[in-house]
Amino acid sequence: MKFNAEKLAILGGPKTIKVKSPHFRWPPIDKEIEKAVIKQLYKSISIYDRSGIFKEFEDNFAKYHQRKYALLCSSGTAAIHSMFVAAGFKEGDEVICPTYTFFATVTPLLFTGAIPVLCDIDENGNINPQEIEKKITPKTKGVIITHMWGIPCEMDEIIKICKKNNLILLEDCSHAHGAKYKDKFVGSFGDLSAWSLQGPKIVSGGEGGILTTNNKEFYYRALLLGHYNKRCKQEISQNNHLYKYAMTGMGLKYRSHPLAVAIAYKMFKNLEKYLKVKRFFANKMIKALKDEIGILFPPAFFDSKIIPAWYEFVFQYRAEEIENLPIERFFEALQAEGLSEVDRPSSTCPLNLLPLFQNPIELFPIYQKHYFCYKPGDFPKAEKFYQNTIKLPVWASKNDLKFINLYIAGIKKVIRNYRTLL
Ligand SMILES: *Cc1c(COP(=O)(O)O)cnc(C)c1O
Repeated sequence: MKFNAEKLAILGGPKTIKVKSPHFRWPPIDKEIEKAVIKQLYKSISIYDRSGIFKEFEDNFAKYHQRKYALLCSSGTAAIHSMFVAAGFKEGDEVICPTYTFFATVTPLLFTGAIPVLCDIDENGNINPQEIEKKITPKTKGVIITHMWGIPCEMDEIIKICKKNNLILLEDCSHAHGAKYKDKFVGSFGDLSAWSLQGPKIVSGGEGGILTTNNKEFYYRALLLGHYNKRCKQEISQNNHLYKYAMTGMGLKYRSHPLAVAIAYKMFKNLEKYLKVKRFFANKMIKALKDEIGILFPPAFFDSKIIPAWYEFVFQYRAEEIENLPIERFFEALQAEGLSEVDRPSSTCPLNLLPLFQNPIELFPIYQKHYFCYKPGDFPKAEKFYQNTIKLPVWASKNDLKFINLYIAGIKKVIRNYRTLL
């Protein structure tokens, strides 16, 4: 085997990749986006109602997901907060949430006084339907799920559980723009769904968020939370009981910036194009690396009912297969090869490891009355998954084929020479 002759860069050998980082840039800013921003700049930079680029984006986004309503927001976090308020979650209610997610899936719930009931993961890193079922009590009002790293959750089982127990289902699709489960887009399963349009997200405006729903009452309440006055007056029908609040709403301000929306809209129009390339590259990486020892791919990679969005290419490190070489050492060796985009996620960790979920009372006194407290060790599967997660970006332009090949070569080189690291 030719690989065995190679000396790892960490031990003084030649680097696999000599090109300086970054190797991956997102969002891809080009002339097309520049033109869209400048056009919007001269049109308007504040939109008070549902018109112009807001209406255009929302109409297209809703249609793509076969939903009646879409509402742009200032961030994904704001869109998620809007979902919780729209769903009517309140003090003392229980809402089932994944422990393994980016914390903004759950943190806005704390403003409602509802209790986040965390759940462990399945083999893909997504919320485990069996765990959801175990956590249901008479106080449970809803479930929020995250399609982690772009892999859709087990929707058939989750929907069955929600229907049977009359629970409102919310989807956080911030990693999963355009991902499909059984030929249906994520975000078109739940009663409400939200997407971040922030920085590295597949559809990005730099900052931004969007939510969708088919439920008029939910939509009105989301409008009232963060889109007071003109937009509420325009959209809430005058004979609805909520119309009287149209001017003030509930008082928050979650409106989007039109320039951010102009960028996100361009990216949304290119979404299918990005996804096609990402899918091609991801399949190439799977094929090249699936038989290597020391790493394990989520079963979803081989599941024909699931089409991930490939926000990130995430796999598990398996030290036990390579003589317990510590992940830190393995990771250092990859970095030394020049694979600078390979990453170990840190802020996206099980929520029970975070002070806010261990001791919420100092910041949210309401939880003195509705006590909850998580601690390390509560969710062993999620914690192990997190400890062993390695991720790399999935490029979205055909021009980046060289990087895919180099990253594959670098990973193979380190695995096949792991003994030299022991
Ligand atoms: C990015 C992200 C959010 C928060 O979105 P912002 O636009 O940054 O507020 C929420 N949930 C998940 C899963 C995310 O990745």
